Amino acid sequence: MPRSTVARIDLEALRQNFRLASERAGTAQAMAVVKADGYGHGIVPVAKALAADAQKYAVACLEEAFAIRDAGLRQPVVMLQGVHAEGDLELCVRRGFEPVLHSHQQIDWLAQSEARPTFWIKINTGMNRLGFLPAEVEDVMTRLDSMGARSGVLGFITHFACADDLDSPMTAEQTARFEEATVPWPELMRSVANSAAHFVPGQAMYDWSRPGIMLYGGSPLVGKTGPELGLKPVMSLEAPLISIRTVRAGETVGYGAGFLVDRDIRMGMVAVGYGDGYPRHAGTDTPAAVNGQRIRLIGRVSMDMLAVDLTNAPDAKEGDPVELWGQTVGVDEVATCAGTISYELLTGITARVPREYR
Ligand SMILES: *Cc1c(COP(=O)(O)O)cnc(C)c1O
Repeated sequence: MPRSTVARIDLEALRQNFRLASERAGTAQAMAVVKADGYGHGIVPVAKALAADAQKYAVACLEEAFAIRDAGLRQPVVMLQGVHAEGDLELCVRRGFEPVLHSHQQIDWLAQSEARPTFWIKINTGMNRLGFLPAEVEDVMTRLDSMGARSGVLGFITHFACADDLDSPMTAEQTARFEEATVPWPELMRSVANSAAHFVPGQAMYDWSRPGIMLYGGSPLVGKTGPELGLKPVMSLEAPLISIRTVRAGETVGYGAGFLVDRDIRMGMVAVGYGDGYPRHAGTDTPAAVNGQRIRLIGRVSMDMLAVDLTNAPDAKEGDPVELWGQTVGVDEVATCAGTISYELLTGITARVPREYR
């Protein structure tokens, strides 16, 4: 019998979140961002579950694009980092991938290659990660024209640095720079919105939005949880209570004797740890739940186990499943306790944890 530590994936919740993204995208279409193994949910089941609704997928790299194609799905797949070698351009043509062109190196590859994929041009409007500066776009288009690659340009994309903070002026500034840089080509498509931008009042959405985390129920906004934004939790991480004992006042729990017990407590050990991707930085008082009752972690998270205080759950018994995040405890709450964001928790679930779909 395998241990019953499992990540349950609710594909209907995923579809509902995609519908919410589509609604919030207005007249734009939403491409489903399924990079990083579908944010840890399994790229193939996720992509298949969205196949009836999503007209495009977006991934980081070629391997992820192949995973979608090899699963028999036919929608175009946007490769957000573009190609990493000249030879990949030919694969993009053959398999129907749409790479993003963000560097002069990639233009050189296009110049050397006979392959003529359709592709997107990335404009750096302030994120300063990837892309051409607004002032370079005209030259890039001229160069593409001269090498007979101009007709492959589908459109322009940019990425926001601060859309998670509704008070930041930067999203509007980046949008204005993008708008200005793309004015000469009204016939081409445009795409700017990550999940957070779907919640920015008055945000221009253009032709395609690119929702990622919101599809999986995680909040893209600082200080808000997914459910507060109308999103449904998709992953429930569960692990069984494998031992229950009373720990006496004055004793300590776990590595580094990290937690000093101040009164007798009923303590449970849960079969999940950082070796499963549960964050080691989640300390004492991080919430979990058993039988729908909220409980708290105590002491340090180990590789394969963590300790919980069962004071609030007197009926909990060995074998009962503990929810580390899911319906009762939001992944955003746990992320905050661990000093990180839901993205990192969801993508960090390791291969040891089976995904079960419903
Ligand atoms: C990952 C990514 C997205 C999706 O971002 P979320 O915050 O998860 O919605 C959109 N666009 C680009 C370029 C990305 O890299």
